[in-house]
Amino acid sequence: MADYIYTMELRLTPDQIKGVGLVQGVARAAGMNLYLTGGAIRDIISGFAIRDLDFTVQGNPVKLQKDLEKAGAKITAVEEDIRTIFISLPGNARAEISMARTEAYEKTGKPPVVAPATIHEDLRRRDFTVNAMALSLNEGSRGLLLDPFNGVADIEAKLIRILHNYSFLEDPSRLIRATRFAARFHWPLEERTQARYDAAKEGNYIDHILRSSIGHEIAALAHEDDPLHVVKMLEKEGWLEVLHSHWTSAKVDAPGLGQLMKTRQQMVDLGYAPDAGPAVMYFLTSRLSNSDISELQRLIPRKDLVEAWRDIEDHAKELAKRLMGKEAATPSRTWTLLTGARPEMILFLAVTARQQSVEQKIKNYLTKWRQVQQKIPLPEMTELLITPQLPAYPKIAHDVFMLLLDGKLRSRTETLKFLKPFAPPPPPPPPPPRRGRGAKAAAEAVAPVPAKPGAKGKKGKAEVVAMPAPATKIEAKTAKPQEKGKLAKAPTPVHAPAKVVHKPAHKLAKPHKPEKKAKHKAAAKSKKTKGKKRR
Ligand code: ATP
Ligand code: MG
Repeated sequence: MADYIYTMELRLTPDQIKGVGLVQGVARAAGMNLYLTGGAIRDIISGFAIRDLDFTVQGNPVKLQKDLEKAGAKITAVEEDIRTIFISLPGNARAEISMARTEAYEKTGKPPVVAPATIHEDLRRRDFTVNAMALSLNEGSRGLLLDPFNGVADIEAKLIRILHNYSFLEDPSRLIRATRFAARFHWPLEERTQARYDAAKEGNYIDHILRSSIGHEIAALAHEDDPLHVVKMLEKEGWLEVLHSHWTSAKVDAPGLGQLMKTRQQMVDLGYAPDAGPAVMYFLTSRLSNSDISELQRLIPRKDLVEAWRDIEDHAKELAKRLMGKEAATPSRTWTLLTGARPEMILFLAVTARQQSVEQKIKNYLTKWRQVQQKIPLPEMTELLITPQLPAYPKIAHDVFMLLLDGKLRSRTETLKFLKPFAPPPPPPPPPPRRGRGAKAAAEAVAPVPAKPGAKGKKGKAEVVAMPAPATKIEAKTAKPQEKGKLAKAPTPVHAPAKVVHKPAHKLAKPHKPEKKAKHKAAAKSKKTKGKKRR
């Protein structure tokens, strides 16, 4: 049997894994059964990026709000009628928690009658087979996959299939969802689903779409990886004008959007997690009138998205202003300023900045200045015992990086000259070896002494204590979760792997004379005792 918990942990980002733990803890404390459901399961199994975590609880998640907040989540929206809360987990991970429910569609165009239900009943009200699975996160059944409609098989077959013949009639927004998923995954509709889809289109079922569903579908575009492609497919099917009568693909700032997605990827590769949603909405609607944009915004239930979208230009202007002022007069000051800025703003400004100096500073921040890190002489710092174990290490590493950024340390020699005063005194020498009776027992009693940096081993190479600094981008990401909305501080220099030493240690650290003396003493003493024994 497939181990879905293992696959889940493998596929989620470290922040998402922590988020699952957080929600699990809160649900367990409240005595509610919790399942990971919907698109999250689909994406875990299919291998696509997991954009948000969909949880379902047997119970009312609206009651969990306070406990979630206490545990570090932010409530971003609440939909009381369907008992669903939207949350933002530490590190920008989005999630929603909904109540397991049944939906009875009694009148076309009217919201369904909702009632609390079991997870099995809940899966029956879902849109497509690939979205109708649940993974238990409960003690006793943790890891059990509920897949009553064979969603796993449809993922393997790459097919979008409705659960029953009335699916599009009950909720016409599923027509838009079908097109969106088909465009995103490049999966076709299953044959009978396609026939139902065509019939629904022919019968204008879409006229009965609920306003709230329109809002959901607009917001969903914000998190697509290729939003322009999805918008074009929606337009082709006639659904874009359902979202707003004036919306066409010509209203999209396509070059701006393209640049945004490229920069976002660049930032993700650097280990940041900017939420591009508000900026995507900005570019998707760039050429719509302000009143049309306001109408779109009013339909969206997630007010955090709307607010961020509304404020994006003003916030970017503020940052641009600061980047042109004294606060960013030098590369090091600019670095500090941008490190404290929200990644979302850097992303947006990188694409929209009108001032060349602002554009250049952001470009340097994301590329050139990061390469300055390579100039930090890590092997020599290790030999000088300036390692992450030192309490002052972060400050020393930061200062040297800042000076390098500003071109104030122009050569390796200058850098070493700056660093040397920070080198701590070498550790005391190991006690002289004991000989004779009791020596073995004493040796066993003494804890192993760490190798003296710079001392020659058998192979004549200096031993270096391995550093706990993150060695890869992924490790760097997992090592310290980013505070929401904040960029990481100056990159932590990565230390040379143990035993790789470029210069003989004696060139940097002076040989330890007292040790030599101790050796002589020990040797003389052992001669004496040997002599005594013979006699
Ligand atoms: P995405 O990757 O865009 O988040 P998703 O499938 O997770 O896709 P959500 O809007 O997050 O979509 O919804 C979560 C789950 O809720 C879906 O997977 C589906 O099971 C269910 N769902 C959402 N909208 C509908 C709908 N209109 N009809 C039936 N089920 C729905
Ligand atoms: Mg989802």
